[in-house]
Amino acid sequence: MGDVVGALPKYQNELGHFAKVVMPMYRTKFLFENEWELVHEGAQQMGNHYFNYAVIKEKTNKLGFDLYLVDINGLLDREKIYGYDDDTERFLAFEIAVCDWLSKWQHKPDVIHCHDHHTALIPFMLKYCYAFNHLATIPTVFTIHNAQYQGWIDWNNSYLLPAFDSWKWGLLDWNKNINPLACAVKCASKVTTVSHSYLDELRQAANGVENLMQYERGKSMGILNGIDSDVWNPQKDNLIIKNYDDHLVKEGKKKNKKELCGQFGLDIDKPLIVFIGRLVGEKAADILPDAIRNSIYQHHGGANFLVLGSGDAVVENKLDELSHQLHGYVNTYIGYDESLSHLMYAGADFLLMPSRVEPCGLNQMYALRYGTVPMVRSTGGLKDTVKDFGDWQGYGIRFNHASVNDITYSVGRAIDLYNNKRDLYNWMRSYMMNIDHSWDAAAGEYIQLYESLQSG
Ligand code: ADP
Repeated sequence: MGDVVGALPKYQNELGHFAKVVMPMYRTKFLFENEWELVHEGAQQMGNHYFNYAVIKEKTNKLGFDLYLVDINGLLDREKIYGYDDDTERFLAFEIAVCDWLSKWQHKPDVIHCHDHHTALIPFMLKYCYAFNHLATIPTVFTIHNAQYQGWIDWNNSYLLPAFDSWKWGLLDWNKNINPLACAVKCASKVTTVSHSYLDELRQAANGVENLMQYERGKSMGILNGIDSDVWNPQKDNLIIKNYDDHLVKEGKKKNKKELCGQFGLDIDKPLIVFIGRLVGEKAADILPDAIRNSIYQHHGGANFLVLGSGDAVVENKLDELSHQLHGYVNTYIGYDESLSHLMYAGADFLLMPSRVEPCGLNQMYALRYGTVPMVRSTGGLKDTVKDFGDWQGYGIRFNHASVNDITYSVGRAIDLYNNKRDLYNWMRSYMMNIDHSWDAAAGEYIQLYESLQSG
């Protein structure tokens, strides 16, 4: 979500529109490294308490859009974004403060675009909370980045909401809880997901709201995220050893691979398969150690593996153990390292993404841009962006299950492609590097959606 909110408005502004972003003022590095000005101060009630809030704005427009942060002492002034016992109060206070600040603007925004459950009560508040009634006609768009988390609130805490038209309580409710995500799906003018396939999948399985997703299909659509093609550009990337374009992909990747293999003690002549990402169940990281071990045994060490990630401690330990046991075949870097990730996209031959859930996924799009063949499970955004090389003009490897067997089989296909189908492999690399996944297209689709709401 951070990637989208950080990039989409920049591209929308470049298209001649005026997109502003408002988010909570967490105590992050970005806050301390930039200059801010105070633009608004207010106070609001939440339940039996009043809270003060302040809105600050980044001074230099360095991101290409106006960024506003809402400061609420005692609630948002923390390092982590979520995962606290009082998350309900934290995000409710943020939503209330945003609606209150908006209600003080001289101009009304044309559209308000909310992202995920943390902002999902805003469409309801604007329409049915008495204090914000005069904003009720502003169209709203709600984007689902991840439907697993819905922000459930016990009905006993409904007193925390600003006074609302009680006839509308049913819009807040889903399965006897206040369900912000479900509420936004009901109340927003339009609902989007970050890929077409993810929307299809949510109608089958959406952590309890699948029937609602089916019911509201008429106002829902998928818009695939883009990537920042200035940052992720092998021709200009200064975090890699050798820059290259689609004509120089072979030599360019070889130099980057040499550096990578040198750093991690791997064999430059073998296909290098990498995994980059959070080591969590959603990414199927739990089966990664067994899948790598099995692949190395079954394919007689025909491929090397490198994993960059952090997350579940059990998986981290298993991967570390594996890199000691199968030294020279597999290595790991446990932690977060953006520079290394760039070198891996540039130097690897294949990128493995066996994700169980992938609403859009960025890694596979970065891999395509760097001429690294994606090996993905057919789900969500992975399905929408990767075509198997067995199909007409395919340029990737797809499999159906997040299982050791499917991964092992796919590794076999990767080894065969690398060793025995060199012409096809070279064609695939240049072809995929020219696929356009830049934000321009996605930004245009969102603008079209907003405009449809103006006339409607
Ligand atoms: P998600 O947002 O679900 O984690 P995405 O594929 O949408 O997955 O985005 C993940 C982003 O985070 C990519 O840009 C990827 O390169 C980056 N990333 C994930 N883990 C690491 C890591 N350990 N080091 C560097 N970059 C990472």
